[in-house]
Amino acid sequence: MEIKAANRIVVKVGTSTLTHPSGLINIRRIEQFVKVLADLKNMGKEIVLVTSGAIGVGVGKLGLKERPSDTRSKQAAAAIGQCELMYIYDRQFSEYNHVISQVLLTRDVVEDERRCALCRNTFSRLLEYGVIPVVNENDTVAVEEIEFGDNDTLSAVVATLCDADLLIILSDIDGLYTDNPRTNPDATLIRAVTEIDDYILSIAHGAGSARGTGGMITKIHAAEVAGEAGIDTVVMSGTDPALIYRLLEGESVGTRFYSRQAKPENVTA
Ligand code: GLU
Repeated sequence: MEIKAANRIVVKVGTSTLTHPSGLINIRRIEQFVKVLADLKNMGKEIVLVTSGAIGVGVGKLGLKERPSDTRSKQAAAAIGQCELMYIYDRQFSEYNHVISQVLLTRDVVEDERRCALCRNTFSRLLEYGVIPVVNENDTVAVEEIEFGDNDTLSAVVATLCDADLLIILSDIDGLYTDNPRTNPDATLIRAVTEIDDYILSIAHGAGSARGTGGMITKIHAAEVAGEAGIDTVVMSGTDPALIYRLLEGESVGTRFYSRQAKPENVTA
């Protein structure tokens, strides 16, 4: 499908886009981001937001020096941060007269046929109501056996649950590179990925930032999950949220992972 024609769009934003290195909310970024999504909604698009940041914002709010590594502290931080995160989104989207809703998921919900069907219905009704679902993992109760573990994967699952036309994953890097562009100046951006083969997997180094959870590898995994459901994924920088307009106007932005339909060859910039 042409990106311009995408109507139902899942946008995933990560902790490193939403917060400063201090762990506190990047107010300017989140304001710009909400403004763009609100505007896309005004243009008639349906938006589902998958947001990380619960743990990061909780850590910032508690004034902890670093992200804790033990489960109990992470789950407590998520309980605090999720509430703050929703408060921020609600305030911001309300300024543009948009209604948001909170959906917290764990893996066991989508793995159970009946609960998964209920969940699909809820998304579909929320979108009929014209509401923006804001989704995160239910970190406070998620234990290893039932967790998605990272929100890239969660965003792909949400895209399939909502029958989305497009998944946009915002990152702290502007797409998939042939090598790490922070250490190799010759690294080039890959514009289009039509097949997630061993080469693509090998260049997706696992490193994320200190504040987020996933690296490029989880994004590629997400693209694979979405692709199986016939949904294209674009991994692009979240630094300037207005870039989303350019993507939706048909410009080549970030790295596009094509789903199973007719595809061009893998293209490097
Ligand atoms: N669900 C986690 C949070 O809100 C983030 C997981 C991720 O960043 O992938 O903090």
